[in-house]
Amino acid sequence: MRVESPPAFGYASTADARRPGFPSLDEGAPSPSRAGGVIHTGNVAPMTIAVHQFLCLTDNYGVLVHDPATGATATIDAPEPEPILAALAERGWTLTDALITHHHADHIQGVPPLRERFPALKVTGPAKEAARIPFLDIEVREGNVARVGALRAKVIETPGHTLGHIAYNFDEDGVAFCGDTLFSLGCGRCFEAPYAVMWSSLLKLAALPGETKVYCGHEYTAANARFALTIEPDNAALVGRAEEVKRLRGENRPTLPTTIAAELAANPFLRAEEPSVKAAVGMPNADPAQVFGEIRSRKDRF
Ligand code: ZN
Ligand code: FE
Repeated sequence: MRVESPPAFGYASTADARRPGFPSLDEGAPSPSRAGGVIHTGNVAPMTIAVHQFLCLTDNYGVLVHDPATGATATIDAPEPEPILAALAERGWTLTDALITHHHADHIQGVPPLRERFPALKVTGPAKEAARIPFLDIEVREGNVARVGALRAKVIETPGHTLGHIAYNFDEDGVAFCGDTLFSLGCGRCFEAPYAVMWSSLLKLAALPGETKVYCGHEYTAANARFALTIEPDNAALVGRAEEVKRLRGENRPTLPTTIAAELAANPFLRAEEPSVKAAVGMPNADPAQVFGEIRSRKDRF
């Protein structure tokens, strides 16, 4: 099946969705104050993306993306079926799509049972990992657009953690799903590509608008904070975020979503260009990609 490329679409204004302080996407009915993203005309009430996040397995996040305009609902990855089915029931949504970021079992093993429960389920995932993802209907590549009803996600190829890993950027709604590429205060392990490849992928995510809400595949933030503080103990943004994370986890609350701006300020893996970070790892004159590699290899041993 073919997927459209971006030039096929003329997107209208996204200014609302990208304003700072864009409120939570997770609760309540659409209201003008949280309007954003969806283009509306005449008397049609403004409606926008709804995102529902919940834990799966031990530290994976399940996420549902819902389009109120059409009723379409996607699961971002499929760690396990039961919590996804429970979340669908809780919201009264019917699963129509699965958007897969990469081939690891903790992201795809829910696909077969979900397809059995919803035979019309449309599975979208990276063309480069097509052989490893069950029931893949729509293969996507860099720049393709994945659809969830009327919602549109631009596909960003982010190789590193796996070679075909992709992220889904709902740019009209200011929401991105990064799988196991970018975590809050961390990034995925580079299992299938050299560190420099992962660095290039992270740069693509870092270039998204700062207010973009970022959902990640795992709740790793507390452990990531402990490591990040070994690199930048004096970074006020990091120290503040680490305290916030401690408080949130103490209350058993998620630390995600985060934002691109917050990660640029506090996540050492996105900060390999900063002179302070280069100096901290004893590489003041090195390439950012090499600095990133040093930080990533330290984390591998941490
Ligand atoms: Zn993974
Ligand atoms: Fe994972």
